[in-house]
Amino acid sequence: AQAKAVNVLDLVNDALKSLKQPIAEKGLEVKTDVPKDLTITTVPAKFSQVVRNLLNNAVFYNRKDGVVTVTATADEKNLKLSVQDTGIGIAENDQERIFERFYRVDKARSRHNGGTGLGLAIVHDMVMQLGGEVTLASQVGVGSTFTVSLPLADLPRFYK
Ligand code: ATP
Ligand code: MG
Repeated sequence: AQAKAVNVLDLVNDALKSLKQPIAEKGLEVKTDVPKDLTITTVPAKFSQVVRNLLNNAVFYNRKDGVVTVTATADEKNLKLSVQDTGIGIAENDQERIFERFYRVDKARSRHNGGTGLGLAIVHDMVMQLGGEVTLASQVGVGSTFTVSLPLADLPRFYK
């Protein structure tokens, strides 16, 4: 895998394009607050996988007519990208396990949606590989915010 300069807004918009249908079906409003000229030097396929998996969840676990908000900022060293939803939220007990492979909060409901419980485990793996971190803030019945922090340029040696 090779690191390349990636425009963050373009990548977010590409991910949103592929979710157009479920977003429309659910009547979701999508807000993006990402500077047009913000770029990150990273492994594009891995970064885009992270964004897509987080957006998938923000859409799928949202409520009807809810909101998805994508925000990105950067300081000298890091990109901070947040995906916020107005969905079912994640109880505190589940928050520490949510990045484990195959962990799903509501087994009965989850069985119907055909997901595998791998999305967030992949997010965690990719973010670790790219030298960053991912955090979660959530309140049941209110929503969740996943925040990914990634080095803007200083990738682990392996990817240089
Ligand atoms: P898939 O492999 O298709 O992504 P999944 O969505 O079930 O399946 P993860 O993305 O890893 O798997 O999420 C794990 C579990 O965490 C989900 O089953 C769901 O219970 C909970 N979860 C994830 N994201 C959210 C969210 N934004 N709001 C509420 N619950 C969430
Ligand atoms: Mg998922």
